[in-house]
Amino acid sequence: MVARYHRNMSYTNLSHSLNDLFGTPNIKAVYDLPCHIGELAGRLNYSGFTYTASELIRNHTLFNLYEPFLPNELAEKTYARMLGCGSLGLHASLGLCSSTVPMLEYYKFCPECNAEFMKSHGGIYLHRVHQTPCIDVCPYHRIPLFNSSVTIENFDGRHISYNRSLVDLSKYDYSMLVRIAEAFEYIISGQLRCSYADLKLRYRSLLKEQNYLYGNTRLDTQKVMNDFINHYGEKLLMRFGATVEDVYCNWLLSAFRNTDRITHPVRHILIILFFCESVHDFSQHSPLSELKPEKRINAPKNDFAHHYKSILALIDKFPEKSRQALRSMDNAAYQWLNIHDKDWFERHMPPKRIPKPVPKRINWADKDSEVLAKVKKSVSQLLSERNPFVRVTIYAVCGRSGEQYRILNNRHKLPKTMKYLEAVAETSLQFQYRKIRCVISDTNEELTKELIYKNACIVKYRFREVDDYIESLFSGVQINVGKNSGVQSSRICDNLLGWRLRQKKQ
Ligand SMILES: [Zn+2]
Repeated sequence: MVARYHRNMSYTNLSHSLNDLFGTPNIKAVYDLPCHIGELAGRLNYSGFTYTASELIRNHTLFNLYEPFLPNELAEKTYARMLGCGSLGLHASLGLCSSTVPMLEYYKFCPECNAEFMKSHGGIYLHRVHQTPCIDVCPYHRIPLFNSSVTIENFDGRHISYNRSLVDLSKYDYSMLVRIAEAFEYIISGQLRCSYADLKLRYRSLLKEQNYLYGNTRLDTQKVMNDFINHYGEKLLMRFGATVEDVYCNWLLSAFRNTDRITHPVRHILIILFFCESVHDFSQHSPLSELKPEKRINAPKNDFAHHYKSILALIDKFPEKSRQALRSMDNAAYQWLNIHDKDWFERHMPPKRIPKPVPKRINWADKDSEVLAKVKKSVSQLLSERNPFVRVTIYAVCGRSGEQYRILNNRHKLPKTMKYLEAVAETSLQFQYRKIRCVISDTNEELTKELIYKNACIVKYRFREVDDYIESLFSGVQINVGKNSGVQSSRICDNLLGWRLRQKKQ
């Protein structure tokens, strides 16, 4: 999938594809037990795909091959590491680096499978079951697999060329190779469901049934070893890195013991096919009841992998939940990870939600005074403006004060401010009178009616009252515009006008 993405994006550097898919360029895309799957699933979901991390691990990696043969704790830990970013030392932790079982060298393919893929998908996909060490035959077509020309090590993430090179299988029992391939297929497809303890119990039971045990415990080591070698033949065991020689230190006997020492899955498959015809038969086998251990009260589990698993499962299931909600669902895991693996914890938890600030209770009496002061300032600004004159209205004042929103949405909570605004707001006529008075007091030129009309920006004949007022100023007729007009200083202005006019006459 990574390779296909990389090719389709036409990136020159593989790290760009890795960054897109896994959120980091500093990883290696491996075929068997890849990590960062949680991140990958998240990114795929974001792009509209519906894969869950669990589906990716179960259906597209080799985890299923290893899981039944790992102690539960290690299996859970491995799963958690694949979900997260625990690639460092993952293979070593499963004993894969030190095992004598040969590693996979080349990507392998089956020509018949390729033909089927071409027909059904229009392109060739690699079967994960073919990419297991020690598989030589396609379990679906029972024909020998071909090596591609691409080694696992030098895979550049782009080209798989299907050059044919065939492994010589003539020296091996072909039907046995087919059975082994089918066993791989069965296990990788997740059909072998048994716990590690159950696996060991079945081994013991089968040893007992097939007469390799004295009593219930003592193993006839020589007999089981000889029969095992005869069953497979030295050559085949050699090919699988599974020879059985030294009676004191060999993998076969240790696989039968109830230890947590890890045995390679290939070797487990050989054991299973030694006892049973197929893995399916093995999975159906019910152990002898006399060998079943008495049920003990479970000792407290000193394993924390399940914390990772639990939290990731919760995040997977409830991606929109907050940290607090996840915590309430599994407090133990949440706490443990928060304390013991803070780094991992922070990387996987949903981002912290910043609590919405609780709106402060507003003391409206204080606010009223505060706003009133601002409004008064705005009014005096408006009154001082000349070019152009600005009419004092509630909206103009509010807009100027910067408190427009607060005032207009909280009129009833700001009584003093509103009372003031209603008092100072000018009617259209009041505005005209104010302009005239301003012109009279500001002008140094000889005052004429025309000058007043012009400088006060008043259109003649527009307001009869205004025309009359201007007329009266020059005829000495008293017109009362002070009362109810809001123009408190009209008399002063009139006096001023009289004084100004007298000055001009002299
Ligand atoms: Zn095939």
